[in-house]
Amino acid sequence: MGAIFSVEEFSTFDGPGIRMTVFMKGCPLRCMWCHNPEGQSFHSQYVRSQNGCLHCGACLAAGGGILTADSISVCPQNLIRLCGTEISPEAMIQEIEGKLWMLNASGGGVTFSGGEPLAQPDFLMSCLDMLEGKTHRAIQTSGFASKEIFAEALKRCEYVLYDLKLMDSELHKKYTGVDNRCILENYRTLATSGKPFITRIPLIPCVNDTLDNITQTAQFMSQLGVTKVELLPYNKAAGAKYKMLGREYITDFDPSVPPQSHTEVFEHYGIGVKIL
Ligand code: SF4
Repeated sequence: MGAIFSVEEFSTFDGPGIRMTVFMKGCPLRCMWCHNPEGQSFHSQYVRSQNGCLHCGACLAAGGGILTADSISVCPQNLIRLCGTEISPEAMIQEIEGKLWMLNASGGGVTFSGGEPLAQPDFLMSCLDMLEGKTHRAIQTSGFASKEIFAEALKRCEYVLYDLKLMDSELHKKYTGVDNRCILENYRTLATSGKPFITRIPLIPCVNDTLDNITQTAQFMSQLGVTKVELLPYNKAAGAKYKMLGREYITDFDPSVPPQSHTEVFEHYGIGVKIL
């Protein structure tokens, strides 16, 4: 079984053509700027939308201070829902199959995103295997996985969207909770594999948009012969979903500062830039 929290049916952002994107639950990283915090936990969670809330407290009262299944029925505004579903690979593919004609006609396909898809390797590999020959398969990943799991996924997809965040290992650990060693190692594997891929860098103000980090990143990519990158300026709405989960959004950077893209640095290293 796999755990997913959303399926987006007409995505034009997660690879070539029109795509169906499966957002898988669970991520080993805790990026300080994460705008999908509902994808971090591997478990289903009850979430409360803020818009329209009467602050009557009925939802928490029904659950004894926390949100539970009982909270759903007592909310007069219908604002409580369970985020996360367990699904078998067979059921997942059944859900996808009816849309394949349209996805394929657009030159698109299916993208497994998250959370971190490589963190549920058995489910991911089964789904990718079942889609073989039926559509274009992609994964969107932080690259944080063992080299064995990464190699297995690479064999089973036609395209990879790969995030690079910070080159300095200590800073990477500070801002994402994990060391970047296996991420850089898997990136090397990807860049030399011949598999089509795109590198994406979320630009976080004063965290990884520094001249130092951008220069190190461009050098690293250029040494591996990578010639294009997509930059994603920090999403100012990133904090919005934390309240839904009953969490506070805490950063040690100023989200109101526009990030620097330093496109000239990438261009200096022969890397074409697209800002998303
Ligand atoms: S029951 Fe619904 S309206 Fe009342 S506090 Fe909870 S979410 Fe808000």
